[in-house]
Amino acid sequence: GLRMTVDDKQLVTNYFNTVGFERWRKIYSDNEQVNRVQQDIRRGHQQTVDTILRWIEEDGDVTQQSFCDAGCGVGSLSIPLAKLGAREVVASDISHAMVKEAQERAKKEWGGNIPSCLTFNVGDLQHLQGSFHTVLCVDVLIHYSDDQLGSLLDSLCRVANNRMIISFAPKTFYYTLLKRIGDFFPGPSKATRAYLHREKDILDALQQRGWHATRKHLVKTRFYFSHIVLLKKD
Ligand code: SAM
Repeated sequence: GLRMTVDDKQLVTNYFNTVGFERWRKIYSDNEQVNRVQQDIRRGHQQTVDTILRWIEEDGDVTQQSFCDAGCGVGSLSIPLAKLGAREVVASDISHAMVKEAQERAKKEWGGNIPSCLTFNVGDLQHLQGSFHTVLCVDVLIHYSDDQLGSLLDSLCRVANNRMIISFAPKTFYYTLLKRIGDFFPGPSKATRAYLHREKDILDALQQRGWHATRKHLVKTRFYFSHIVLLKKD
């Protein structure tokens, strides 16, 4: 129900503004000391980023395309997309700490002046405005349970015109991952759960909304699992 959704979102937001922010800021960088598990997750996430950027480059002229990066984190996808010359990149995240970090990284990338094609904002992906050639939602659904999926996918579909790139943690690895959830959400933030999703549930829900998968790839390292799908509008 609604109350559940609000509570979950509040947990996720708090997590990514505090202990989760520090943890993921380090994992999503290449010059910070991290432990072996985090190194493995960093390597897996980089494979996800590389795969998505390659798919996008193989699928048409980026300079004609606008992107919405829903749950952008530190900008791991938004910044390279802007560098590739995307017409427009709107990067947004529910965590203000993440958005601030993404902005700082973008400033560093362009020597102080973030190009006008790249904008950042703090907000829930469920309140996204506008319409975009491509909507990205990468490693975000893991924070939400199956009963929240439909409403989240509605929000993404609402702003997507042509293409969506979505990733999720596949349920097939349930038991493996369960044992490792402590590594995903350590310490006091254990309350923040990792949810796994069946590929069929995600693809069926998207099919009902008029989207079909044209590419899929499972990125899998020891501690990181992410099933990436590229979808096109029917
Ligand atoms: N997509 C980025 C990437 O792959 O590098 C970041 C992934 S990180 C594991 C998940 C991000 O989703 C966090 O930055 C978190 O704040 C954000 N997030 C979670 N729920 C969200 C929501 N409802 N709306 C927007 N962002 C959300």
